[in-house]
Formats: sequence, structure tokens, C-alpha cells
Amino acid sequence: MSNSASGSAGSGPTGAAPTGRHPVLVVGAGPAGLSAALALRAAGLPATVLDRRTADTVRPGSRAAYLHGASLRSLEELRPGLGHEIAGRGLMWATKRSFWAGKEIYTRTYAPVTKDGLPPFTSLPQVVTEDLMAAACREAGVDFRWGVEVKSAESGPDGVRLVDAAGTEWRAEYVIAADGSRSPLRAAIGSPLEGPRSQNTFVVVDLEDDPAHPLPLERVFHYNHPAVGGRNVLMVPFAGGWRVDLNLLVDDDPEQYVSPEGLRRWIPKVMPASYGERVRWVSTYRFAQQVAEHFTDTHRRVLLTGEASHLFAPFGARGMNSSIPDAIRAVRAVQGALAAPGRPAAAAEVDRFAAERQEAARYNRACASTALEHMLAQRPSVWLRRRAAAAVAVAGRKAGAWLDSAPYGPKLAARGAAKTSY
Ligand SMILES: Cc1cc2nc3c(=O)[nH]c(=O)nc-3n(C[C@H](O)[C@H](O)[C@H](O)COP(=O)(O)OP(=O)(O)OC[C@H]3O[C@@H](n4cnc5c(N)ncnc54)[C@H](O)[C@@H]3O)c2cc1C
Repeated sequence: MSNSASGSAGSGPTGAAPTGRHPVLVVGAGPAGLSAALALRAAGLPATVLDRRTADTVRPGSRAAYLHGASLRSLEELRPGLGHEIAGRGLMWATKRSFWAGKEIYTRTYAPVTKDGLPPFTSLPQVVTEDLMAAACREAGVDFRWGVEVKSAESGPDGVRLVDAAGTEWRAEYVIAADGSRSPLRAAIGSPLEGPRSQNTFVVVDLEDDPAHPLPLERVFHYNHPAVGGRNVLMVPFAGGWRVDLNLLVDDDPEQYVSPEGLRRWIPKVMPASYGERVRWVSTYRFAQQVAEHFTDTHRRVLLTGEASHLFAPFGARGMNSSIPDAIRAVRAVQGALAAPGRPAAAAEVDRFAAERQEAARYNRACASTALEHMLAQRPSVWLRRRAAAAVAVAGRKAGAWLDSAPYGPKLAARGAAKTSY
């Protein structure tokens, strides 16, 4: 797993003063903010990115390890070579396997296919993707301002005024808010997140590859794994390691599974024994399924993107993969608004962005909810359907294929006005 810092050695001097009024400012240098910065430069606009992190902060964990082909193609369009570079650092598995109570019910190996020379997906730690994106940003002339924490935002008919933790004022005609799940900008425009949180806890663990016990590159899902008391387990390889997701039961005490002793107890039951000593990151989650009430402010000057505007359970990998089209669409709206003949036309550009990406977010949430419901099987109808499919899965290929794909939600398809897969 990479230890390099996301966006290290940024081009802007940390804490440097703002330079006049910006046409657009990006707040946040995660995947959404980096995509927005690349899209701004591709559109010939200046890009300044503010982030509260220092240039050498390391963000741990594989997190959004699964980058879809659609995302690779978008990044390749923004910065030729970037999609290929990211794909070259990641890995792909050709085989998918599913088990029910320890018995294999489905396996399939795919022939490798490429579109525009890019793979259908790649798997690598999010920090590596962010490093490559940040390097591409620097080459494209993006101005990073690290160590700048935006504390307040005020929008008006003429633009936005931000104030950072040092009391410095930043002014822009438009602000692309890519400041993550706790987004201060979302709070400033008064747009609450709407939607539920799952009551179940999931444990997510990164394990470093063990060269002495290399494992085949396969994505493996276990329903009711007998070695861990019938809990579901997902195992996914990424460049440098393995990601293991354990679906705890409602009454489980997460501490029993994330403590060093707990990890040493259950990891060797689902992976070769040596992997119990190779834990590099562990976290617990209760997944939120939330979308912002509105994606822009009353003056149409702040545009919410990425996790500032939506939170999805990671099954189906819709988080980072949808942050990229969010950011690209936001930049198209800002570009249109800056060139618009008057305020109503400019506002209409931003409104179209907000409507399209909110529709896409609601669709993504619905897909992630379907996947989550299937995983948890709390509704009797879902539970029965799963059991019935498992009973015939070995003989009936269709039932096995359904059980194998259902934890990741409905198949990708371009939906609604957004016309994107995510
Ligand atoms: C366990 C886990 C697994 C996941 N798996 C996947 C997956 O397989 N595929 C997928 O697509 N997604 C996945 N995701 C989701 C993915 O990690 C997120 O969707 C993605 O990081 C969101 O990007 P973002 O740019 O919107 O926000 P972030 O990555 O959170 O970036 C926000 C940035 O804003 C900065 N910031 C915050 N507040 C301020 C402030 N006040 N001033 C200045 N800067 C600020 C932060 O420092 C940060 O750099 C997963 C997430 C988790 C937790």
C-alpha cells in the first residue's frame, strides 16, 4: 500500500494570501475537488484549490479503491494520459466468486475487455489515485493553497465571500464546494442532508499482501460465512493488498472485531493465517444514504459536489465514482454562467447543474440502498428471495449470478437528465 501523501508538495505556498477576486474557487482537494480543478484547467479557466490539510498529510485506508472505467475515461479526457496512468497503477480481477454458508454457489472468469484502451475498472488505494490526480493538477497549473480551513461562507448576488481560520477573506464569483461529508459550505448555504443511516456496523480492514502466501486475484463474497458466525464477508484485492468488509450483526460490539486481539481472532478464519498480522488500516462504518436538500444556494453561486452533496453506502462504489461527474458538471455550469449574458441566464446554468446532479445522486442512493437491503436481508421478502436463490444456485446459473451481483446494486446504466452511469 502506498504511503505517499495526497497532493504532496503543492504548487501554492501554504497559507499564502488570496490574490484578488477569483472567477471560481474550489474548496477541498479530495477526488471531487481535484476533478473540478482538472476540469477548470481543461476549460481554460484558472483553478485555485483551498484545503485545510497540510501538503504532506497522509490520508489512510484504501477507501474508494474501485475506480470504474467511466471514471478512468473521464479523467483521461480531462488530462490525457491520466486515466492510463491510474489504470497502470491499479489491478483488475478476472474472477468473481460467491459462497453461501461456506459452499461455492457461483464463479465466473471474464475475458479482459478494454474500451478506448482502458480497462472496465481498476482497484488501487484512493490515496494513490489522489496523488496521481494532484500531480496532474500541478502539471496543468492548478494553484493549491494547503492549510487553508474555510470557516464561513456568505453568498450574495455578485459572488461568494469565504473566511478562513486565519481570518483571511477569499472572494470568488463562484465556489465549487468539494469539502467532504461534513461540508461547512453545505452548512453555510443551509442545505441539510436528507435520508437514513444503516443501524448495522460494518468493519472495513486493509491487509497488506503477503508475498509468502500470494492469493489469486478474485473478488469473493461470502453470505453467512460459517467461520465468523454467519456474518457476510467481502474480500476485494487492490494494488498492494486486500480489503475485507465484515458485516456485523445488529447486537455485535464492534470493539470485539476491531481491537488487535479481535482482528487476530477473526481475520485468520477468512484469510490465510499470516494475514492476521498484516492489518494496515481498520475502520467501522454505519452507512449513510443521504442527499443534500439542494445542490446550490439561493444566489446560485455555491455548487455542492462529491460527499458535500451526497453520502452512499460503498456497495456499488458510487461515492468517488459519482464525485467525478459531479465536479465535471459543476465546472460546465460555472463556465456557462461566467459567459452568460446576464444574471438570469447565469443562474439557469447553475440550476441545471443542481437539478441534474441531485437526480443522479438520488438514483445512486436508490442503487446503493438496493445493495444494502440485499446485504442486510432485514425485510422478509429479501431474506426469502436470497434463500430461495441459494437453494437452486449451484444448478441454476441465473440464481447464482443474481446472488453474485446483488451486493453491488443494479447494473450501471445512464439515467435521467444527467445521462451518466453515476
Ligand atoms: C470505507 C470506505 C470505502 C469506500 N469505498 C469506495 C469505493 O470503493 N468506491 C467509491 O467510489 N467510493 C468509495 N468510498 C467513498 C469515497 O471515499 C468518497 O466518496 C470520496 O472520498 C469523496 O470525495 P470528496 O472529494 O467528495 O470528499 P473528501 O475525499 O472527503 O475530500 C474533502 C476534502 O475537503 C477538505 N476540507 C474539508 N473541510 C474543509 C474546510 N473547512 N476548508 C478547507 N478544506 C476542507 C478535506 O481536507 C478533504 O481534503 C468509500 C468511502 C469509505 C469511507
